[in-house]
Amino acid sequence: MSKKRDYYEILGVDRSASVDEIKKSYRKLAIKFHPDKNPDDPTAEDKFKEAAEAYSILSDEAKRKRYDQFGHAGVGGAAGAGAGGFGGGFTMDDIFSQFGDIFGESSPFGDIFGRSGGGGGRRMRKGSDLRIKLKLNLEEVANGVEKKIKVKRHVSCDTCGGNGAKHGTALTNCGTCNGSGQVRKVVSTMLGQMVSTTTCPTCNGDGKIVSERCDSCAGEGRLLQDDLITLNIPGGVAEGMQLSMSGKGNVPPRGGVAGDLLIVIEEEEHLQLKRDGTNVVFDMHLSFIEAALGTTTEIPTIDGKARITVDAGTQAGKILRLKGKGIKDLNGYGKGDQLVHINVWTPQQLSSDERETLESLRNSPNFQPKPGKHEKGFFDKMKDFFH
Ligand SMILES: [Zn+2]
Ligand SMILES: [Zn+2]
Repeated sequence: MSKKRDYYEILGVDRSASVDEIKKSYRKLAIKFHPDKNPDDPTAEDKFKEAAEAYSILSDEAKRKRYDQFGHAGVGGAAGAGAGGFGGGFTMDDIFSQFGDIFGESSPFGDIFGRSGGGGGRRMRKGSDLRIKLKLNLEEVANGVEKKIKVKRHVSCDTCGGNGAKHGTALTNCGTCNGSGQVRKVVSTMLGQMVSTTTCPTCNGDGKIVSERCDSCAGEGRLLQDDLITLNIPGGVAEGMQLSMSGKGNVPPRGGVAGDLLIVIEEEEHLQLKRDGTNVVFDMHLSFIEAALGTTTEIPTIDGKARITVDAGTQAGKILRLKGKGIKDLNGYGKGDQLVHINVWTPQQLSSDERETLESLRNSPNFQPKPGKHEKGFFDKMKDFFH
């Protein structure tokens, strides 16, 4: 798999570009690389698609944010190592829906933009996408996980091989389009006369007509089935992230390419651990006796319990770091840490004996606060640990 180019680079804008700048730049590229205007340049369609994909992400505030944070992996693109079968892949079909947005109601391409990509041949039809939600616990999010899920999807009918015709019978050519699946018409646009081809209304672009229907699928060429699908979820995914698995959506009626399976990630909240990017934060509560005398205790981590030692004289607000006990980086840059945030519990009720003991210590010199320069304040600590 070749490395995906940066979306900002593709559109030739910088990372702080406004929505308007992004739109303007995309419009220029779309006109420049439109396949109909570059019949002799086979790379034009790829460039056209690449620009459309970049625009689809950067023009959407939420997707752009995820892309800025997680890169291609954050927006369902190729997630690199560990991503298993997921891949982006932007088809001409995905692009057409954008042009209302880009060119307004009076698109200079109109129907032409929508239909004629791919050089005039019969277009491969694509089935609809399926979208599922996948709930993951913190451990699965942290390390990645393989999940087998059942998905109800349209799959190709084996009896007829997906064409919908009764076993042994051949398809007949459609009379309206002579088997091409498309009918042509000439349209005037501001770019001059262009030949527009539209899908044949008689055969819906198949070019063939089923004369005798397959019994198994009633001529549909597909069946609705429970399909067991194995998902390889990479570590480091986040709430709301969408992964896509190409070819695991619905097969269209009477042959074509299956759509995609879109997997929307939901994070289950952990009772004791909180996620912060690739780090995991645990709030630990010590009595002030423990803080003063030191203690060894067990705390929860993603991989089970861990023993940690708290030194005598530990101040409230101190953060201990358990290296590598955090969440995998989605792009493969290692793992985050677990941060243990020390809180010191002040007793709220005291018996008279306890009160007496503490009163006797009230004026003891060792109990007087003496914060030194090295006792960092709250804001310095935040700077150290979260940036
Ligand atoms: Zn069939
Ligand atoms: Zn036809």
